[in-house]
Amino acid sequence: MLKVVKFGGSSLADEGQFKKVKAIVTRDESRRIIVVSAVGKRHKDDHKATDLLYLCFAHLKYGMEASSVFDIVKRRYLEIEKELGIDAGIKEELDRIEGELHKGINEDYLVSRGEYLSAKIMAKYLGYTFVDASKIIYFNYDGTPNSPRIKKALEEVVSISSKIVVPGFYGVYPDGTYHLFSRGGSDVTGSLLAQALNADIYENWTDVSGFFVTDPKIVENPKRIKEISYAELRELSYMGANVLHEETIFPLQELDIPINVRNTNHPEEGGTIISASPKDREQVITGITGKRNYSSITIIKKSRFSKLEAMKEVLEIFSRYGVEVEHMPSSIDTFSLIIDNEKFHKHLYETIAEIKKLPEVEEVIVESGIALIAIIGRNMATKTGMSAKLFSVFGENKINIKVIAQASQELSIIVGVDDNDFTRAIKAIYAALVK
Ligand code: ASP
Repeated sequence: MLKVVKFGGSSLADEGQFKKVKAIVTRDESRRIIVVSAVGKRHKDDHKATDLLYLCFAHLKYGMEASSVFDIVKRRYLEIEKELGIDAGIKEELDRIEGELHKGINEDYLVSRGEYLSAKIMAKYLGYTFVDASKIIYFNYDGTPNSPRIKKALEEVVSISSKIVVPGFYGVYPDGTYHLFSRGGSDVTGSLLAQALNADIYENWTDVSGFFVTDPKIVENPKRIKEISYAELRELSYMGANVLHEETIFPLQELDIPINVRNTNHPEEGGTIISASPKDREQVITGITGKRNYSSITIIKKSRFSKLEAMKEVLEIFSRYGVEVEHMPSSIDTFSLIIDNEKFHKHLYETIAEIKKLPEVEEVIVESGIALIAIIGRNMATKTGMSAKLFSVFGENKINIKVIAQASQELSIIVGVDDNDFTRAIKAIYAALVK
């Protein structure tokens, strides 16, 4: 049994958190490949090491004094090392980095030092071997991970040391230049290592006990999602749930390696397991999520023109402006495009003007202030009467439905309501349909 185990920044925020991590790791012999983030926030107003390092680089770039920001980072790591009562050589490491600050230091390299130092301390503290991500995480020049190279390098490493700690978030291009994943990317490091070693499970430890059926800010104490499929998670994340970096699941999906999201502060809670085919067949609704601030653009076309042609022309305009269309319900002479307002409002006037000029178009009606709610569940496909129940909830609560869409796999039903009905609708669906 082999577990690849990743700990996020809040799980490493101080000496107390490092102790929790050690207790978790040592409790299970199979937790042999450990990935760590840079140290995170200890409390709401605190700073993440990664943010401070970005700030430090910005100071250097504009010729401003950077040492006071770097000092904060220094203190955080030195303090943790000292309080754990170990010597992981952090002082020497920091001196070396400091010496490089004014020698044209590369931004990604500097920022990656957050995870590097965390991993140095963690390796020493656990008695595991430190393995620099620059020796195993390889990128292609286009920034995609080079999985065959990662596999080869990692297999060599683990044939020598079976228990290792690897810093997350960075790797190197073929020429050795440092490169970072996007923010939150230590999740992806863990997932690539799990893929490379065909691990039995990838554990991702954070500060929440996995995913909840719905947003705890809307419904008090919602149920935890115990099991969810990769596909459902994608639907859920698309609409706002962002516990994991969105690239985490791709490497694991191919080999069907499950991910277990767990809480470092509450290891007794099982968390959420994400896999290809969860066993739980009882729970019909896995998640209820959504976002406010969409617009619907309804196009009424002249009846003598083909709908397909008109749709093609309109979509062409949106694609030229790089505006994504979320849904497109249609009837005989009309079709509506549902668009995220945030991305759209920059191009609102140009796109509408261009659509109005199309010969096929009779009228364009723009309505904003729409919220989309996604009701997600892999078991919906096999249960009849689900949509009847769902829509009666809207009726009983006198919530007007503006849009309805269902994905073909019946994985989710999307309902559009007025922005003002958003929280009320989620509460009502949860109360009526989640048991
Ligand atoms: N430390 C990096 C960040 O804050 C990466 C990570 O934690 O996954 O984005």
